[in-house]
Amino acid sequence: MVDANARVGVVGAGILGKLVSFFLLEAGLKPTVFEEGPENPKNSSFSASYAAAGMIAPYCELENRGANVTKLGFDSLEMWPSIVKRVGGNVFFQREGSLVVAHSQDKNELQRLRRTVESFIAKPEMRVVRGDEIREYEPDLDPKMTEGLFFPLEGQIDGAEILAALGAHLRANGATLNFNAKAHKVEAGKITTDSGVHGFDCVVDCRGMGAKADLKNLRGVRGEILRLHAQDVSLKRPVRLMHPRYPIYVVPRPNHRGALELLSALYTLNTGFSEARITEAAVQLRPAFLDNAPRIFHKKGLCRANGLFRHGYLSSPKLAALTAAFVSEGRIEKGYESLFEQEK
Ligand SMILES: Cc1cc2nc3c(=O)[nH]c(=O)nc-3n(C[C@H](O)[C@H](O)[C@H](O)COP(=O)(O)OP(=O)(O)OC[C@H]3O[C@@H](n4cnc5c(N)ncnc54)[C@H](O)[C@@H]3O)c2cc1C
Repeated sequence: MVDANARVGVVGAGILGKLVSFFLLEAGLKPTVFEEGPENPKNSSFSASYAAAGMIAPYCELENRGANVTKLGFDSLEMWPSIVKRVGGNVFFQREGSLVVAHSQDKNELQRLRRTVESFIAKPEMRVVRGDEIREYEPDLDPKMTEGLFFPLEGQIDGAEILAALGAHLRANGATLNFNAKAHKVEAGKITTDSGVHGFDCVVDCRGMGAKADLKNLRGVRGEILRLHAQDVSLKRPVRLMHPRYPIYVVPRPNHRGALELLSALYTLNTGFSEARITEAAVQLRPAFLDNAPRIFHKKGLCRANGLFRHGYLSSPKLAALTAAFVSEGRIEKGYESLFEQEK
């Protein structure tokens, strides 16, 4: 716990470092941020936060998540609209739900997802959609897609846009942002960069995979993403294809742009994808612990938040708010105790 005039240093300006800084500002602290890379890079291979598709999908991700992450995701989903509003700027964010589809021969895959959702959530916001009902949500989907589930509460955000808007908001509200400033050492009360040793009352480590040397159980889970421009295809919301060998998702953006995780099987959603132009391909490592659940490690003068795995945009608002509340008030919110671990 630090007082109102305390100096807090944050290392890493991915989605987590920027949101932690956002909540520290809201708590009346003025953080100083050190980021190895440039501000607003054009290339998504720069960090996991720039590579991400930006789905905010707590139901669809139930199959991939670690213990305790479900609550984190649902709480975060409710926080995004207000964050986007407070940050301002030009940020594409929508909650038009998401659609999961399968060919009739793969409907077992869909049933598996449905069972998973029902086993975690007593009354899930989930609708079974079949045949032409699917086209009512997404008219451009191939008629061969006959089986589906619709999750009306899910959303999506443009990662690069929210990162840029957060940067501008942090600076305008008194945070100090240092880009091209790699931290060589991140220790309790100290951050060492090329410009020297910077002393703080508390250091918050949000380096993602950059913290590997200090967090031995952190591993990188590879993720690939393609960005496309498909003039002939118009989707309104994220669409996942459940397939036994080639599961994919497509996350549309305005102006026929979209991001997807794998190219194979894409044409089965809409043959218009055969005309798509690939505008970028990126591979990145997602920072994860063995159980795929994030953690906040702490000791006097140091807090390390990490392990967002596939769920950086899904879970970062709440994880960041928990981290900032711990740093500013020493408070651990009830129900989230298991995310916190004392660092030796
Ligand atoms: C292909 C792909 C698709 C994804 N899609 C989604 C999705 O749809 N929805 C979702 O919720 N999540 C998604 N994710 C996951 C999400 O991207 C990550 O969980 C999230 O970005 C992790 O954020 P972070 O801030 O912890 O780490 P990072 O984004 O890696 O940020 C860490 C920052 O720290 C900086 N840094 C590292 N070392 C140092 C140092 N020594 N000094 C200074 N700075 C340093 C790095 O340059 C970086 O900017 C996806 C990930 C990938 C790879």
